Amino acid sequence: MLAKAITLVESLLPEHQLAAQEVLDRILPYTGNAVRLGISGVPGVGKSTFIESLGMMLIRSGKRVAVLAVDPSSTRSGGSILADKTRMEKLSVEEAAFIRPSPSGGTLGGVARKTRETLLICEAAGFDVIVVETVGVGQSEVAVSAMVDFFLVLMLAGAGDEIQGIKKGILEMADAIAINKADGDNLEKANLARKDYENALHLLTPNTPFWTPPVLTCSALEMRGVDTIWETVLEHRRRLIEHGALDAMRKKQAVSWMWSLIEEGLKMRFHSHPLVRQQLPGLLTQVEAGQTTASAAAERLLRILDREPSTG
Ligand code: GDP
Repeated sequence: MLAKAITLVESLLPEHQLAAQEVLDRILPYTGNAVRLGISGVPGVGKSTFIESLGMMLIRSGKRVAVLAVDPSSTRSGGSILADKTRMEKLSVEEAAFIRPSPSGGTLGGVARKTRETLLICEAAGFDVIVVETVGVGQSEVAVSAMVDFFLVLMLAGAGDEIQGIKKGILEMADAIAINKADGDNLEKANLARKDYENALHLLTPNTPFWTPPVLTCSALEMRGVDTIWETVLEHRRRLIEHGALDAMRKKQAVSWMWSLIEEGLKMRFHSHPLVRQQLPGLLTQVEAGQTTASAAAERLLRILDREPSTG
């Protein structure tokens, strides 16, 4: 049932999409109970190793864990390297685990939408923890942080000048930073990096008055520090609930989600409208040639949407 529901959600066929909407409406009352955890980091930082360690730890304590992914490259290549079962060998054979790679095809917005809906389905199916994995490249992080309760950024020590290469925006999204591969010869470097990141984070305002994102170290490979990170996720959750902020955050996320669906839908309707398709190339040429202004051309194209409903 889980796989079937997700297949409906991921399908591009209009009749499947209608059915998917109905499924989503009906399961909605059963959603909202899982811990939604986003995990990001550059390729090689140890995301799959970390998720495998965390997932196994959670399963041993009786939890059911789903792993999903938002992979922007899957929209181009048609495949995802994230949430790949071969990268999580132990977890993938566990009965209590469900791993689903990033849907492919379409825009990042489309991929994020399908993943968000899959998250709801997994929640309704009773998973206790939903991990959403993404790569550290920008837009996909924004999409993932908008669908989770806690956003964890994995980092490496000594990968270039510590703070320099990191986008400020990503640090601002983080509810915690974990420096992975804090083991062997790397341990000392990891502890130094931790101080650097702590200083950097101090310069940024915390997301909420009751949470200051901590900087932690861990070894996903040796399974050290993973439990502390999970404790941090739970502590964050306790504080959110205490302040009534979890509900508020999810409400805000749902509303902003609706707006992004509206925006995406408007764009799709625009581009698929037969008259727009017919007139767009000519108007583009005219704008380029200076024969009409950008605003006049834009207005003419937008008016098409008022004239008649899209058949696309
Ligand atoms: P991903 O691309 O972010 O998913 O990274 P992977 O989990 O595939 O890890 C990339 C490489 O780093 C693999 O060879 C892992 O074995 C290794 N690795 C991951 N975590 C650790 C760690 O905590 N310590 C060490 N020493 N190596 C690790």
